[in-house]
Amino acid sequence: MNLIIMGPPGAGKGTQAEMLVKEFKIPHISTGDMFREAIKEGTELGMKAKTFMDGGQLVPDSVTIGIVRERLAAEDCVRGFLLDGFPRTVPQADALEQIIAGLERSLDAAINIEVADEILMARMVGRRICRQCGAPYNIEFNPPQEAGKCDQCGGELYQRSDDTEATVANRLAVYIQQTEPLLTYYQEQGLLIRINGNQEVTKVFGDICSSLR
Ligand code: ADP
Ligand code: AMP
Repeated sequence: MNLIIMGPPGAGKGTQAEMLVKEFKIPHISTGDMFREAIKEGTELGMKAKTFMDGGQLVPDSVTIGIVRERLAAEDCVRGFLLDGFPRTVPQADALEQIIAGLERSLDAAINIEVADEILMARMVGRRICRQCGAPYNIEFNPPQEAGKCDQCGGELYQRSDDTEATVANRLAVYIQQTEPLLTYYQEQGLLIRINGNQEVTKVFGDICSSLR
């Protein structure tokens, strides 16, 4: 399966991606996670990305497309992949088409998780992530059994620096302006699968799996 998971920030892409990659045994490729990892390691890529991410802006296409091109060429993508958070602009989508054609493959579906605007803010401000394994939680909607501690690996939970109210508002505006046009892009290619994300995590997952089969 060669899949893209889309939707506004906070829609639940990472949450669903974790479950989908287990189901379909494909790698989870999140550009946001790749940038956060680079920032943690203090690499040149991390330094380039940090200013944009802190302001809720997109990292430039020239940087982002390069890391995805390299990642998709890796051995573990041979049987498929799930791209999460990429593409986010029309030039990124055009570049992806070329990259995939170069690998003599094609996309199977672009899953779009739709969530009401008023819910997105609460999801993002309440989001907590495991520092060790990256598992997502939410203090309101999906709390860990023990506060501040990951159920899966016991790691410490932290709040993303871009999950503040001011940055979240900016990220939503950027999404509407730069990423939403991609819905028409994939609809015209007959690849768009629309999923109601205003439901429980397991229900959303069930809907995605049935649409893919
Ligand atoms: P994205 O990757 O789209 O930004 P996440 O998967 O990180 O979104 O989810 C954002 C927040 O919302 C997280 O705190 C997550 O635990 C929570 N969340 C995800 N899906 C749901 C859902 N269906 N119902 C309630 N909360 C959810
Ligand atoms: P995410 O983890 O997907 O919410 O992404 C966090 C941040 O990383 C975004 O707000 C952007 O600053 C940056 N980012 C992630 N993916 C991309 C992308 N495809 N294009 C540009 N910027 C990105």
